[in-house]
Amino acid sequence: MSSEKQLSLFDLSNNDDSPESTSDSDSDFSLIPTDVKIPIPSGTYQTMEQIAVHCNQCHRCELGENRTNAVIGRGNPKAEIMIIGEAPGQNEDEQGLPFVGRSGQLLDKILQSVELSSDDVYISNAARCRPPENRTPTLKEIEACKPYLLEQIRLVDPKIILLTGATAVKALTGDKRGITKIRGQWMEWEGRLCMPIFHPSYLLRNPSREPGKPKWLMWQDIQAVKQKLEELQSDNNSIDF
Ligand code: SF4
Repeated sequence: MSSEKQLSLFDLSNNDDSPESTSDSDSDFSLIPTDVKIPIPSGTYQTMEQIAVHCNQCHRCELGENRTNAVIGRGNPKAEIMIIGEAPGQNEDEQGLPFVGRSGQLLDKILQSVELSSDDVYISNAARCRPPENRTPTLKEIEACKPYLLEQIRLVDPKIILLTGATAVKALTGDKRGITKIRGQWMEWEGRLCMPIFHPSYLLRNPSREPGKPKWLMWQDIQAVKQKLEELQSDNNSIDF
């Protein structure tokens, strides 16, 4: 399909918002813009399932060549906290779920330490397909996959976004600073509160819990996140008259 044809298919002005048109879009994989120069406009998808259907057929970047499963997300798609990682690894690629290996188990323990469960978070990645040899996704690959990430953020509409590691921070905000410099600092992106935190795999490599070490810093950060969430929730519950 030509780029022009693809572009016209994703022109919002031609979109019919009716459920019937959504279902048509689901079943016609030729509607996926395979040319990375073609944007996927905000509002293209109504559900995570639609994003999953398209990503499993997507070849906007070369990572689509070798995937077993595109990895979309896990957790509550209406959660108040969204966690964004880097890219799927081998376990994630095989199971089609993000953060399912040792890193995922550690992430779940970190959340549990402040009484957050998988129902309180939605977890996704900057890239939806596994890079070969688990390398870091390139900027080109991240940019190709970003429209899906932006659509997921729009659908979840989280109060707080946690960015695990420098790649996730760079992918979403463009901030290229090292994670040790910016972890634990609140930043705003598109009107949303974000906090960069260490990637759990970094904590697996640095297991010390001594004050000042990465695990201890993560403990400070996740407590700050829980506190901020409670503040935001109590603001929402305040009497407005
Ligand atoms: S990583 Fe993203 S852009 Fe690249 S092929 Fe997979 S779904 Fe498409």
